Amino acid sequence: MANAASQRVPAAEQDVGANADRVSWDFGTSAEEYRKLIHYLPVALWQVDTRGASAAFDRLKAEGIVDIAAYLDAHPELVEHAQDVVRVTAVNREAVSLLRGSSASELVGPVRYVFSASPELAKRVMVAHFEGRRNYFEATRITAFDGTRIDVLFSTTYATPSQGLDTSLLMMIDIGERLKVEAQLRQLQADFTHAARISMLGEMATSIAHEVKQPLTAIVTNAETSLRWLARKDVNIQKLKQLTTRIVSSARRASDIVQRVRGMATKHEPGRAALDLNEIVDEALLFVRHDIEAWSIDLSVRYVAHPTRVIGDRIQLQQVVVNLLVNSIQAIAQSGGATRRIELATSAGADGSADFCIRDSGPGIADENRERIFDSFFTTKDTGMGIGLAICQSIIVSHGGAITASNHPQGGAQFRFSLPPGVAD
Ligand code: ADP
Repeated sequence: MANAASQRVPAAEQDVGANADRVSWDFGTSAEEYRKLIHYLPVALWQVDTRGASAAFDRLKAEGIVDIAAYLDAHPELVEHAQDVVRVTAVNREAVSLLRGSSASELVGPVRYVFSASPELAKRVMVAHFEGRRNYFEATRITAFDGTRIDVLFSTTYATPSQGLDTSLLMMIDIGERLKVEAQLRQLQADFTHAARISMLGEMATSIAHEVKQPLTAIVTNAETSLRWLARKDVNIQKLKQLTTRIVSSARRASDIVQRVRGMATKHEPGRAALDLNEIVDEALLFVRHDIEAWSIDLSVRYVAHPTRVIGDRIQLQQVVVNLLVNSIQAIAQSGGATRRIELATSAGADGSADFCIRDSGPGIADENRERIFDSFFTTKDTGMGIGLAICQSIIVSHGGAITASNHPQGGAQFRFSLPPGVAD
């Protein structure tokens, strides 16, 4: 084991010249002490005798095989064979505990059990070894002896041919807890976005309902009075004109209220910071990543190499991108089509504008709705409020830009917005 441990001397420490004796690893005292340290190391460790594979590798190299990955694809029996002839010769305490074993001897023998949950990993480990790489690592899964699947960070360190060693070290760290926390965090983010959107839309709807109640009541009262006047024999045109004028002005007021409350959603004056649209898109994606994964949507993002800076409010512009993404996700989810794809791109317009485009593989926008989708309260969804796009438009317009919707010739909706380039105050 002391020999195997000596392979772990980091490369940087091998080249320290005159100071080598001061900083290099000291195995002089006691191999037994090192054995103990390794035994109690809080990282699961396997010492693996790779002689069985080395013989096969030497033969393949002599035959002139260079593309080992392709060769192993064509000869899967070699990967199978290697898992029998490459053998675990020692393990530490943490390895026994990780695999829910009862003793180290259970883990000693053919290396096959390490790859039982992820047979392709065996091939990748062989490819890295054949190519003479120093290390290989990936996040993967193993099956413990009691059948539990465990997420681990798997890594292996190979001896270089010049070391004349046929020993590799495998290391694993249990990352199950970390992945769980990450998933919870993503779920929280998604819930938060959802809650933020709902609460903003909810607040708007409530204030609109509250404020338009008064002009609507006035409209109804005036209309009812008009009807009563119309029912009389001596129609008083003058009175009817007055009532109708009141109806028109109340309706105007209701419309103004809707506009004003919609404006409120875009929060007073937008901030005026110099912003990079690529960053805005990146941040917005954080909020919807969970939904994109949950619906198995294939996401492609193309960022412009030299983004134009725009002046504006980071949160508001994020809100626009999030709203557009949420709409695309909902369109794809509702359509239930086999292709689930969202393409995002930022670009620089000929006039120096910062442009954004989102295209989805949903059903697209019906022709008869094309003119109305930016209207407040226009929705085709059972539980929709029809405010998302109205807010997007208000925000983009308040930033001096424009937003348009169309259908892509190859299907799906496409939204584009364009913001003028700006110089910070
Ligand atoms: P809501 O999402 O509550 O319906 P929006 O204002 O965000 O409100 O959208 C208005 C309408 O525009 C939607 O109901 C839908 O008919 C249409 N729409 C928006 N985005 C898309 C899209 N990506 N694909 C197809 N239709 C869309």
